[in-house]
Amino acid sequence: MEFTIISKETVLLNPLQDMQRRRVASEIRLDPLTGRSSRICHFMKLQWEKPDFAQLADRTAAGCPFCPERVTTITPCFPPEILPEGRLVSEDRVLFPNLAPYEALSAVAVMGAEHFIPMARLAPERIAASFDLCLTFFRALQRAKHPESVYHMINWNYMPPSGSSIIHPHLQVFAGSFAPNLMRLELSAAHAYRESHGSNYWDDLVAAERSAGGRYLGRIGRTSWLSAFAPMGIAGDVVAVVDDIHCTLELTPDDLADLALGLTRAMAAYDDMGIFSFNMNFFTGAAGDDHYRLHLVFSPRAYFSQALGTPDVGALQQLYREGVCMAFPEEINQRLKPRFSAER
Ligand SMILES: [Zn+2]
Repeated sequence: MEFTIISKETVLLNPLQDMQRRRVASEIRLDPLTGRSSRICHFMKLQWEKPDFAQLADRTAAGCPFCPERVTTITPCFPPEILPEGRLVSEDRVLFPNLAPYEALSAVAVMGAEHFIPMARLAPERIAASFDLCLTFFRALQRAKHPESVYHMINWNYMPPSGSSIIHPHLQVFAGSFAPNLMRLELSAAHAYRESHGSNYWDDLVAAERSAGGRYLGRIGRTSWLSAFAPMGIAGDVVAVVDDIHCTLELTPDDLADLALGLTRAMAAYDDMGIFSFNMNFFTGAAGDDHYRLHLVFSPRAYFSQALGTPDVGALQQLYREGVCMAFPEEINQRLKPRFSAER
């Protein structure tokens, strides 16, 4: 496994020190599986200001479509051939079709009755139960033998910096026969990796990171937690790989609990940096894709300027699809690791 780093150096004349030469190092890193590149640059202190959450919650609660008084009256239902119940309800969680679908089979899962839950207060039990509700939906699609029930994906945009327009905690849930861009790239690269190495890429990745140590976070059940070598997010990405399984529908209730617990550990660590928003995606193979391993990626999000609402994604990321991370992943790992060494 190759962790390729291309080192760069910028020379500039520093006006704060009599125009003396100043050298600024940066790196380009290549993801060992896909070759996708990320820049480690623009080094800054990973510390952000949080907004006034009480004000944000008050301002958005009145018209919120996901609050209990509205969620079962203004959200749509699935037709009976897809889901005879129309919506899935489990305690205070509700899953229903997305009015603005991304796919033929596109749903939203509201994670509970509470309008706003700060990131550090998202309980692992609530996250696991919400994932479980999504799996109930996916199993119904399998039972209905829907032709688009191939890749079963859960995405999470939490709070506005991540792209979410509704602060009430919810998941984007969809199934389709066409894998999204990066997942498709991974699927084909993982297939090629197995052909050339005779092994599964993620098994090798976990083994390599575990023995090297610098980006390894820990293990919960059969989930392994890592800091990404070539992150997409400005404050690094956290990756969780589940041993042995290839796709979402193979996750057990214990796996869901372990994934949820690890996510809350990452959230607690990033909360210490003032981060209050993230994206999280499931990356899944189709049934029988032995060359793949189910994994999820958690990527913290922030505003560059809270006052202006400036996103942390600019032209480099948006149009070149180049990752930009503002600290070395190994240093970020040091800030996350104490949370992962906690007793379970
Ligand atoms: Zn709400």
